[in-house]
Amino acid sequence: MRTILHFIDGVPVDGGAGRQPVFDPNLGRPQAEVVLGDPATVAAAVASARAAQPAWAALNPQRRARVMFEFKRLIEAEIDELARLLASEHGKVVSDAKGDIQRGLDVVEFVCGAPHLLKGEHTVGAGPGIDVYSMRQPLGVCAGITPFNFPAMIPLWMLAPAIAVGNAFVLKPSERDPSVPVRLAELLLEAGAPKGVLNVVQGDKTVVDALVDHPDVKAVSFVGSSDIAQYVYARGAAAGKRMQCMGGAKNHGVVMPDADLDQAVNDILGAAYGSAGERCMALPVVVPVGERTATALRDRLVDAISGLRVGVSTDPEAHYGPVVSAAHKARVESYIQMGVDEGAELVVDGRGFRLQGHEEGYFLGPTLFDRVTPQMRSYQEEIFGPVLQIVRAESLQEAVGLASRHAYGNGVAIFTCDGDAAREFATDVEVGMVGVNVPIPVPVSYHSFGGWKRSGFGDLNQYGMDGIRFYTRTKTVTQRWPTSQRPAADQSFVIPTMA
Ligand code: NAD
Repeated sequence: MRTILHFIDGVPVDGGAGRQPVFDPNLGRPQAEVVLGDPATVAAAVASARAAQPAWAALNPQRRARVMFEFKRLIEAEIDELARLLASEHGKVVSDAKGDIQRGLDVVEFVCGAPHLLKGEHTVGAGPGIDVYSMRQPLGVCAGITPFNFPAMIPLWMLAPAIAVGNAFVLKPSERDPSVPVRLAELLLEAGAPKGVLNVVQGDKTVVDALVDHPDVKAVSFVGSSDIAQYVYARGAAAGKRMQCMGGAKNHGVVMPDADLDQAVNDILGAAYGSAGERCMALPVVVPVGERTATALRDRLVDAISGLRVGVSTDPEAHYGPVVSAAHKARVESYIQMGVDEGAELVVDGRGFRLQGHEEGYFLGPTLFDRVTPQMRSYQEEIFGPVLQIVRAESLQEAVGLASRHAYGNGVAIFTCDGDAAREFATDVEVGMVGVNVPIPVPVSYHSFGGWKRSGFGDLNQYGMDGIRFYTRTKTVTQRWPTSQRPAADQSFVIPTMA
């Protein structure tokens, strides 16, 4: 059986605290095993990164950008193989896996502009003979800890900006789908990054704690579930580190009476059930405004759901594949039962779905609940599966209140033809990313990604200019050169002013 290793100092490395199986969710059986690191593995990875970082940072930014251009080219050249590998460990369909890689590539493309992005500010003549300029300097060694659901995109969100601005990086990918991150590290080396600039340490909590605690790790980016995001954030912040920790989500899609209902149903279906609902920007809650909208929406959803095809990752016709693990399948099923017990109306039940020839795979049919209320635990918590909940509202204000009061605040969408309503919604709703007739409003790579409330801990978001800011610190120089044309400054014990 294939063993997935760490990647440290330019070579695969074995060893650590043991091994764990990596499953094929389509078949429900192990296809490989991954080594689990320990504090010694982390120490080796950080030492390698620390040794590599100064020379990498000393390169001019254009030369680092050239490595990023080549990295992008190499990923593009094997995107089909990468997508198949990714799908075989995650379970998402291959076309969706390609999208996962492409959204990461967009960030690589953005950071190819590193020379421009790193330019500081400059003021000539801020005072008599005084010029002021600022520069962005890398932090040193940074670390990233990533979830299972985007094994290419999220590592690239982090490592691309971190490395392009002159840091070395240690990545701890999800132990459930660890192969693609290792391949990315190999490709970056092939693209011309010196060994040690990107190291990958496989593992679980032991590795995460060791990375966050390591004194040479200056900043940590985390994406995963909220309780762990908050724990990692608190642990790193207490040690004085720069932290950005993204958490879970429960995104609402508000459907106004004037919405183009056919388009909205199309959009909601893809956003709720695509990737088996295992996206932090999925749309697991839909809020029709008014009873007539609710009835029309529900009827169309039921119709559309009956046309969904659940299949293996390699089935080009499948809309979505299995969920990631047996434990996760059981968890989603337990939330469906919870919804029933809490009194929600189970309109379509996805439990008991079996795919012929893949009876052991972790497949779930699409589930639809109606008459879900904010008091229900199954509404308050993240399910992260192919389950859509209808929560009926009487007004736009009530819908805004629902999304705003929810503990999570990652994404939200409104479907309407009324610009005024959309504007009011976008302004008032307490959520970090808003879509107007856009079901999955993941910002493009030159904007930044981040949620509010329990969906994000820390101040700076992922990628875009926030990513550049997170992985650099600003130094500001105020300078005056001796000149024969100006008398020497008087001695002064007063705070200097430029007045
Ligand atoms: P997870 O929280 O279980 O794992 C995330 C990472 O933390 C993994 O690398 C894992 O090894 C590590 N980890 C697990 N337990 C830990 C512990 N006790 N201490 C320290 N580290 C630990 O998340 P997951 O199941 O891999 O991913 C799904 C979750 O990620 C969902 O909640 C989803 O909403 C969220 N997510 C959020 C975003 C976002 O940007 N907000 C994006 C993608 C996924």
